[in-house]
Amino acid sequence: MTYFKMFPAWLTHLFSCCNSHSMPLLSERIAVKALKGFSENGLLRAIFPLQSIERGTGAVNVSSQRLIDFCSNDYLGLSGHPALEKAASGAIEKWGCGARASRLMSGDLEIHHALEEEVARLKGTEAALIFGSGYLANLGTISAIVGRDDGIFMDRLCHASMLDGALLSRAGIHRFRHNDMGHLESLLKAERGRYRRALVLAETLYSMDGDTAPVEDLIALKNRYDSMLLLDEAHAMGALGETGEGLVPRCRSREIDIQTGTFGKALGSYGAFCAVSCNLQKFFINRARSFIFSTALPPAVAGANLAAVKMLPGCNKSRGRLRRLSLWLKNAVIQRLGLETPGEYHIIPIIIGENQDTLALAGHLLKNGMLVKAVRPPTVPRSQARLRISLTANHSMEDLERLVRALDNGISKISQGV
Ligand code: PLP
Repeated sequence: MTYFKMFPAWLTHLFSCCNSHSMPLLSERIAVKALKGFSENGLLRAIFPLQSIERGTGAVNVSSQRLIDFCSNDYLGLSGHPALEKAASGAIEKWGCGARASRLMSGDLEIHHALEEEVARLKGTEAALIFGSGYLANLGTISAIVGRDDGIFMDRLCHASMLDGALLSRAGIHRFRHNDMGHLESLLKAERGRYRRALVLAETLYSMDGDTAPVEDLIALKNRYDSMLLLDEAHAMGALGETGEGLVPRCRSREIDIQTGTFGKALGSYGAFCAVSCNLQKFFINRARSFIFSTALPPAVAGANLAAVKMLPGCNKSRGRLRRLSLWLKNAVIQRLGLETPGEYHIIPIIIGENQDTLALAGHLLKNGMLVKAVRPPTVPRSQARLRISLTANHSMEDLERLVRALDNGISKISQGV
């Protein structure tokens, strides 16, 4: 496959560039040594461009090959929706291409406020605040609300953006076993007293395991131990909930200190938000550095986001379809492939273990016209490399049948060492 052949050629080119200079720059030597190590351990990552994305099916073209895409987070298939495109071009006509400045300078536009009001309505919170991305939302909110004298209690599988926010905050960090409320409670019991403030962090639908957090238990524990709770709804927002509000029911929203979510997944666009109280919104405007020191979201993106948020309550048919496809695939993975998957919704991971086996299986799927990425450490724990299959409402039953057949075939080949 072109995609796989690309790696050695690219690496060889890099090594030869390095050798052609009598004294390569220090940065070149660092990069080449690291890349060699990544390559030897099956950990090399590379990007490759899509030539086009098919409307309606979400299939992609790479090196002139049509591939069914099982990697995208466009869960409702909204990224190419005409309503989002129209809203984006309307916003450009009205506001131009860029917001020109940060929100606190002169980049604060009415369209940003309209979007924040719509998000708050959907989430059932008093207010919301937009950030440049989900990464920046987690980084900014976590590092603003806790500091050196505080403690963070986070699920071991929390996304890198939450870990980076925690590290930036300089708070003490305690990681509890995934979804293990007994372990969280024992950590809070033992450590909470040492800290001025405590913050519990979890995702609602985990990005690499596809399982969900026990939201009610998290709320009970944070109340019992006088702590705050941040829930990241990145993968649930839009795809779950009666009106697409996510996994946190609107009626429980005000008991959660901070909910973050992104417009870059089921909402089909880019950017992110935190849904909070009015006071917390004002606090983050004053203290969240990734909000303060960054240019405001471009008008086109804000316009597309606003259209997407407004559409979510009416997307029940797509959510229902996504749910049926997910249940079918989970069942097929268990019954037909004889494998386990922690996935409960539209993210169905198949944990293979070794990096090279996982890469080989992804390569086999690619040969058969399917794009599924091998997710390896450090994104997931060591020896838990996996295929992360993500479904969208655009997939067909034939797509899923084809995937299961190719997986079955690929797994037997790998187990026979072919
Ligand atoms: N939070 C979680 C759980 C994620 O999976 C991701 C994205 O991969 C993010 C946050 C970051 O969101 P964004 O892509 O908008 O930066």
